[in-house]
Amino acid sequence: MIEVKNLVKRYGDHYAVDHLSFTVEDGQIFGFLGPNGAGKSTTMNIMTGYLAATEGQVLVEGHDILEEPEAARACIGYLPEIPPLYPDMTVEEYLRFCAELKKIPKDQREDQLNQVLALTHLEDMSARLIRNLSKGYRQRVGLAQAILGFPKIIILDEPTVGLDPKQVVEIRDLVRHLAKDHTVILSSHILSEIRAVCDHVLIIRKGRFVVCDTPEDLEEKLSSGSSLEVTAKAAPEQAEAVLRQVPAVSGYTLLGQTPDTARFEVRMEGDAREALFYAFAEARCPLVELRPRMASLEEVFLDLTDDDDTVAAQAAALLQAPAAPVEKEGTGDEGDL
Ligand code: ADP
Ligand code: MG
Repeated sequence: MIEVKNLVKRYGDHYAVDHLSFTVEDGQIFGFLGPNGAGKSTTMNIMTGYLAATEGQVLVEGHDILEEPEAARACIGYLPEIPPLYPDMTVEEYLRFCAELKKIPKDQREDQLNQVLALTHLEDMSARLIRNLSKGYRQRVGLAQAILGFPKIIILDEPTVGLDPKQVVEIRDLVRHLAKDHTVILSSHILSEIRAVCDHVLIIRKGRFVVCDTPEDLEEKLSSGSSLEVTAKAAPEQAEAVLRQVPAVSGYTLLGQTPDTARFEVRMEGDAREALFYAFAEARCPLVELRPRMASLEEVFLDLTDDDDTVAAQAAALLQAPAAPVEKEGTGDEGDL
């Protein structure tokens, strides 16, 4: 477990990390999400003991990173944004060197080296000089170095940046594999990246905490403003007449029309879907589409982390708004299942 408490990193007047607190529990695949400059690398560098914080505390498995740096760092494997590779070493030489630095017992080194080379698909490259490797392979060497020693917690700073799509998939698979026995923390500025592998996501912006949740709950919270997109085979006036009859409909907006159909955004109190279905059927205006209208997580992420403080605050307010969750459990008028 890692506990980050009230972390601050200040450069002059600029807060790279601004009173950030969060906890990563054992076994999580924890995604650190924020646009460039949000403070991801700075936070990771502090968590791993590479950088001193201005204020605040980091506890790794209960060890304070400042007071017991050795004990804390022994629990962590880290792939920094720019991996500290030695271009004049071969892959194998470099990894042996890292194994020594990490004080992996001599009788385990050979075995671990082979395991790590296999996991990162580097077996055929082990005799190559690092300087002659492509970006993708170098990234794998950095990963191999982080995994060596099989520490409890593996921290990867933007592990897929600059890789081609096939390599990205390989890294994702590797992260999932590692997550079976390790806690994995990874950062990205791309939401889809985090969503593909993480079970928890922390969004930060300008060094500050925005939200921390599972991707599913985040999506749910953000889709709370319940509205529907309704398309009916009817003229707009005809459809409007039907919409006005349904008590659960609190408002509507015409989104578009074709010669045959009209498409509306329909705002509702509770769940108006069934009532809409029957009302349109009775008016002999077939419903051709009825679906929840949600802001995609992507849209919300972009708003949440918008450079403009007003836009970001509005998006964040959505997260705090009560989502009327009680009503979702049952409105009292549903039949038995
Ligand atoms: P991210 O990894 O999310 O892109 P960083 O942690 O690298 O963000 O940077 C956070 C902020 O701190 C940025 O505004 C960056 O310019 C600033 N910063 C990072 N390192 C330094 C430094 N050594 N000196 C001054 N400012 C820095
Ligand atoms: Mg970074």
